[in-house]
Amino acid sequence: MSDPRPSSGADSRLATVLVVEDEAHLAAGLRLNLELDGYRVVNARTVREAGAQLVQAAPIDLILLDVNLPDGDGYTFCKQLRDAGHYTPVIMLTARSAAEERVRGLDSGADDYMPKPFELAELLARVRSALRRSGWRSGGPPDTALGELRFGQAYINFDTQDATASGKPVRLTQLELDLVRYFAQNPGRVLSREELLERVWKLRNAPNTRSVDNFIVRLRKYFEPLPDKPVHFLSHRGAGYRFMPDGDRRA
Ligand code: CA
Repeated sequence: MSDPRPSSGADSRLATVLVVEDEAHLAAGLRLNLELDGYRVVNARTVREAGAQLVQAAPIDLILLDVNLPDGDGYTFCKQLRDAGHYTPVIMLTARSAAEERVRGLDSGADDYMPKPFELAELLARVRSALRRSGWRSGGPPDTALGELRFGQAYINFDTQDATASGKPVRLTQLELDLVRYFAQNPGRVLSREELLERVWKLRNAPNTRSVDNFIVRLRKYFEPLPDKPVHFLSHRGAGYRFMPDGDRRA
């Protein structure tokens, strides 16, 4: 049995599973059991919520996808993901056990399916197997050789996830840490929103690249002495963002 947590200290992130399921009991049961198995779990009840979670809770490593959802069906959602270049493994949860429905699930780009009702142990085994096949560990966040980062009045330890700004503790989400790390690995280079979504969020051809902007606003609030006059996380109109560890000399 493989542990979803990596054994090396190089990547301490838990694999994240997005559970798209509108039956509350089933969703809660899946969450509990996945968490007991060591995964981080985020829930969505509709196709719309699932789309939002893919961005907000990113990076998502695996999706458990119900077929019948209040605002759409899992097949269409899965196909849209694949058409958009999004290759997160998908396991369809389907009450439809007819062969043609299984084929439809796989044709829509799902990696696997589980007919309901299912044995929990079997589902968890399929989750592990799908993550293994996707090379989850290697597909995780960027190289973590960067253990610590100091810039301006900021200090970040990527291993312990401790961060301070002007000596005061700052609590960063995993995605915020991944974003700062990617900036720190590319100092002084203008990074487009598309590149950031692809490399940090693991989303290719994301429909809404503006979600990056909200994260930049947060990083500035945490780490810029004057968030309205940033010197570290700089905007480049029409191009993207640039990280300047020593501050913007123009400022
Ligand atoms: Ca359903």
